[in-house]
Amino acid sequence: MRKGIAVSPGVTIGTAYCIHEVFVDPSRGELTPDEIPGELARFDNARKRSIADLQALRQKVEKQVNKEASAIFAVHESILLDATLVGKVRTDIRDRQLTAQAALANLLEHYRSVFESAKDAYLRERFADIRDVVERLTSYLSDALKKDSGALDGPTIVIADELLPSQVVMLGDKPVHGIVTQAGGQTSHAAIVARSRGIPAVSGVAKILRSTKTGDTVVVDGREGHVIINPDPEVLAAYRKLEREFFDLRDALAHNRDAKAVTKDGVSISLLANINGPSDSEAAKAMGASGIGLYRTEYLYLTHASVPGEEEQLEIYKSVIGSGPGGAVTIRTLDIGGDKTVPFLGREQVEANPFMGWRSIRLSFEHPKFFLTQIRAILRAAAPSENSAGEVETPDVKMMFPMVTNLEELRRLRSFVRKAEQQLAREKLPFGKAAFGMMLEVPAAAVMIDQLLSAVDFVSIGSNDLVQYLMAADRDNPKVSHLCQPLSPAVLRVLHSVVKACNERKKPVTLCGEMAGQPQAFAVLLGMGLRRFSMSPAFVPTVKELATHLTIPMAEQLLTRVLRQTTTSRVKTLLNRELARIAPKLSPILMQ
Ligand code: PEP
Ligand code: MG
Repeated sequence: MRKGIAVSPGVTIGTAYCIHEVFVDPSRGELTPDEIPGELARFDNARKRSIADLQALRQKVEKQVNKEASAIFAVHESILLDATLVGKVRTDIRDRQLTAQAALANLLEHYRSVFESAKDAYLRERFADIRDVVERLTSYLSDALKKDSGALDGPTIVIADELLPSQVVMLGDKPVHGIVTQAGGQTSHAAIVARSRGIPAVSGVAKILRSTKTGDTVVVDGREGHVIINPDPEVLAAYRKLEREFFDLRDALAHNRDAKAVTKDGVSISLLANINGPSDSEAAKAMGASGIGLYRTEYLYLTHASVPGEEEQLEIYKSVIGSGPGGAVTIRTLDIGGDKTVPFLGREQVEANPFMGWRSIRLSFEHPKFFLTQIRAILRAAAPSENSAGEVETPDVKMMFPMVTNLEELRRLRSFVRKAEQQLAREKLPFGKAAFGMMLEVPAAAVMIDQLLSAVDFVSIGSNDLVQYLMAADRDNPKVSHLCQPLSPAVLRVLHSVVKACNERKKPVTLCGEMAGQPQAFAVLLGMGLRRFSMSPAFVPTVKELATHLTIPMAEQLLTRVLRQTTTSRVKTLLNRELARIAPKLSPILMQ
């Protein structure tokens, strides 16, 4: 058995299909001068075919997954159209007399060294895009693609170093039941696609390609992050049972979409969705969320060549509001920096600790023009408008600011909003009132919550960041993942005090970090008095089901017992045992 990071829940069994890189030996000697024109034409031809391929993929993904997922192919297309990159390859072929493959291998080495020295995780990840494009070109040059997309029969477990976006799509029509990768974590393409399709997946399984071959029987346990290769018959039988339970449960839960989210004793709760763009908001509706609790607008910037204009932002915000459930959307202003950068608002220098550096509102404050544009677009999206029946509707739009640390920042944010309102009024542009909220994700803000509450309309707890800052353990570093635990007693105490403070002051409070969708954490948060949860849409059905097994007194008692535990592992053991008793039916999808 191999251990990795659980990235998409469920248990599945299938036949391994190992994807090794398709590179061809680039060591062939120099071209002769008369071979050069032919080689240039071969390269151009491969480039044209790749572009056509990507356009087709983009359309396919847009139909099968969503528009945001397809944006990656537009990025790849733009790489293939990039004059510097193309020029570099052509110069190598023409002047250094290299074959197209050798020139591409050179190019990749060049970018590898450039990107590897980048301190920024997001930038380093973007190297994968260039690699994907180069692989695609190389495979056209070598005809390797045909070999690689060969037929897969029966339930397949794809095993790869890192699943490149194009490979995921190539596998789109194949019966992929599970995904295992050597690299990657919670936010890799493979993890995102796996979760959105409900495919169990495990990432970060070091060197698994060395110990597995195509044709092996593989068990993927995406709840615990386990991968078992060629298991014994008894182990296989046990997992077959779990796999059946997982499929049955997935089908059954899909039916609770239209049910109201209520606890066993009839207390209503809000199960909201975290989304990255308009088509996710359709998914949120399909999964039965009652609103959008976190719209991460940075993806709009990340897939853009420059800052998106006010009208464009307005259109997108309106389409998120229109396509999502209940017309209720909490729009978070740009949260760039940390693990994500955009070149046009990028860092001026490499930061030693980007997560503790120039990110989120800290960065927005220094780009007042762009910041105002976003705030104006949000206020305009909140304007009342007439629906098709001629009635005036006021959308429930909330504006939320990430990484708030102190009261001075809240005052400064208020003055930005006031300024935007004054400008819009002067320009006679219609706009609406958007509730003003802060994300609580910096420990200093948790300590000062009583003082900060008077300056906001609502709070949303960003537990992903709060946990990493509280535990001083990078959320993306597997080496310290044992510390970065939302169920650690320290985190639970802080969350409890924040929820209590908000409830006492009657300020609406939501939790929108990943833990909102984890059944164990949900039960404890419910016991703390939290009633609003925002999560990946895929987790809504499970949490809705779990709520029907819990009364508020049960959750409160559970919390009391949990708060007596002194270690994370004791908290987890207690919660796993109790949930297995309270909702045994959910065990096939409980991630440990
Ligand atoms: C969080 O920090 O919990 C959060 C929801 O925001 P993000 O994951 O985008 O930082
Ligand atoms: Mg955050």
